[in-house]
Amino acid sequence: MKHGNSVLGGYADTIFDVMSGLARQHQSVNLGQGFPDDPGPEDVRRAAADYLMTGHNQYPPMLGIPDLRQAVAEHNKRFYGLEVDWQTEVMVTSGATEALGDCLLGLIEPGDEVVLIEPLYDSYIPIVRRAGGIPKLVRLKPPAWDLPREELAAAFGPKTKLLLINSPMNPCSKVFTREELAFVAELCVKHDVFAVCDEVYEHLTFDGRPHIPLMTFPGMRERTARIGSSGKTFSVTGWKIGYVTAAAEVLKPILKAHQFVTFTTAPSLQWGTAVGLRKDIGYFTGLARDMQAKRDRLAKGLAEIGFGVMESHGTYFVTTDFRPLGFNGTDEDFCRHITVEAKVTAVPISAFYAGPDAPRHFARFCFCKNDSTLDLALERLARHFRR
Ligand code: PMP
Repeated sequence: MKHGNSVLGGYADTIFDVMSGLARQHQSVNLGQGFPDDPGPEDVRRAAADYLMTGHNQYPPMLGIPDLRQAVAEHNKRFYGLEVDWQTEVMVTSGATEALGDCLLGLIEPGDEVVLIEPLYDSYIPIVRRAGGIPKLVRLKPPAWDLPREELAAAFGPKTKLLLINSPMNPCSKVFTREELAFVAELCVKHDVFAVCDEVYEHLTFDGRPHIPLMTFPGMRERTARIGSSGKTFSVTGWKIGYVTAAAEVLKPILKAHQFVTFTTAPSLQWGTAVGLRKDIGYFTGLARDMQAKRDRLAKGLAEIGFGVMESHGTYFVTTDFRPLGFNGTDEDFCRHITVEAKVTAVPISAFYAGPDAPRHFARFCFCKNDSTLDLALERLARHFRR
């Protein structure tokens, strides 16, 4: 029997599935995988349901239905002042995951170097490698997760084709500052590289921190692909509707990857997403405000139990140091331990590292859950660790 592809075949099952499986087995409160309890705005779901029953359920255009592409362009203008031609500069995908895959497959040539920032979302490196790219990793250091500017500058060279950056950042909940992004932009321009920006948490920043797309910096409009997702913006992670905004020349090769991978995606969910992106500003600020309150609830409770709780500036997540609780194993041991013994699940942060010597004493908890779920998790952890 021959073997399948060795790059992808070498990876273990994703930690999110592993921990969610363990959570089901032990009936634990799952604060591992980041999916909200909130069902999403009713008008958005209703629009998708109506479209499913009365709309056109055959292949939509390859770039996405015109209404959604127009809504993505309007959203870019409304929130970030970006002028976008919906006909040539917007593409709809099956989730941000496909968008990321399309960007990497479409832009990387075998042997190209790709700069990435650790800790990082788990789909990045396998696709970069499958596309023949050579990852150049730059690591943010806790607890501040500040950008190490010299190291980042040193990661760029004549072979650099692309930078992949995620802000707000999963798992460490960092929101890159204007100064950091200006520095990143200068490097991209200086070395003439593409930037792929995973901005799925663009509407989930806290304490008044702005989300600033890298695409808005000088010299970046023509070299950046900016990715959003209905999953995070409308609390419907199962929909898997992503959207890419990029200059027409950048989008062309990305579109080719999309053409051969999925070609298109469910029109009813595209329609619902278009309705969502056109909602009043109050919806978007309310989403962040509600999530911030949940962050505060969980962070306060975890700190009271004795976790070292790190700052969370955005996303669904808070990172904790479990050493103050007296636990001496690895982060994977810890996440298994609390799943089985306390019946609460988190995910180990080391799963978000590709390089050697990842930190092994942090666990990520997600707070996009009902208050009663968060309280139950806290109660269980408190009972377990106060024994
Ligand atoms: N990027 C990041 C940083 C994410 O956290 C996620 C979802 N967990 C994705 C991409 C994938 O988004 P989607 O579900 O739209 O594919």
